[in-house]
Amino acid sequence: MALDTAWVTAWINRSTEVISENRVALITLDRDIGDGDHGENMDRGFQAVSTKLDTLSPDATPGDALKLVATTLISTVGGAAGPLYGTAYLKAAAAVGSAPELDGAAIVALLTAARDGIVLRGKAESGDKTMVDAWTPAVEAAEIAQQAGSSEVEILAAAADAAEAGAVATEPLVARKGRASYLGERAIGHRDPGAQSSALLLRAAADTAAGE
Ligand SMILES: [Mg+2]
Repeated sequence: MALDTAWVTAWINRSTEVISENRVALITLDRDIGDGDHGENMDRGFQAVSTKLDTLSPDATPGDALKLVATTLISTVGGAAGPLYGTAYLKAAAAVGSAPELDGAAIVALLTAARDGIVLRGKAESGDKTMVDAWTPAVEAAEIAQQAGSSEVEILAAAADAAEAGAVATEPLVARKGRASYLGERAIGHRDPGAQSSALLLRAAADTAAGE
């Protein structure tokens, strides 16, 4: 589908479904190395986002939709994830400006701005066992795909693949940020819940762009 406001809405509504389906899995991951609230917080936040998106004006741009996602997540998702994802969608909204439809360069700009927002807010680096470990490979893969002349759908698929691999790659890491950092080597063998939810959100972007 064209990457317009209808796509952003489809992406976010798919995100809500996928987060809901993975609620227990995310709770379990966060219970292993955090406080167990990630699945519940994300599910509540995205349910609120989908409700809010129903009120979006018909002439809203993709950027308007992303901004609505951001403000809703900031006000409904507790823990660390609300401000982090809220900042991500807010920066993504700013990056796409008022364009009615997003091309490959705009998608790369959206992903880059989201990742930069998360880094700015959470002050985490690659290898800290956080959602940055899903987002940075996703941004890099998207850039490579875009420079190779790939379609928007292919760029988003490359980003989703890299985010999933990045989430898996957090398993052997010791955490250097957040609650999991208190566990030291006991965090080894557990996937970071924020990296996992990030991979789910990016797969939802790719699947809806591909019309799946
Ligand atoms: Mg938590």
